[in-house]
Amino acid sequence: MQPMPDTPTRLFEVACKGCGRSLVIVERLRDPGIGALVDHFRVCGASEPLGKAPMLGAIMTRVRVAVVDQA
Ligand SMILES: [Zn+2]
Repeated sequence: MQPMPDTPTRLFEVACKGCGRSLVIVERLRDPGIGALVDHFRVCGASEPLGKAPMLGAIMTRVRVAVVDQA
């Protein structure tokens, strides 16, 4: 399969800062990927608990985002 230069797909790997676990790989950082993150922080003992309706910013301070290189 040939990469299309005009439609680059960039993926982001989102990992939990607390426990270091890789949580999701997404194209864009928004729902529903964020929902998976919130679910993780509810059960992750290494992270501080989130509020009932966590802000995106509060979530992003708890994760590490890395660009996934696609060869
Ligand atoms: Zn975690």
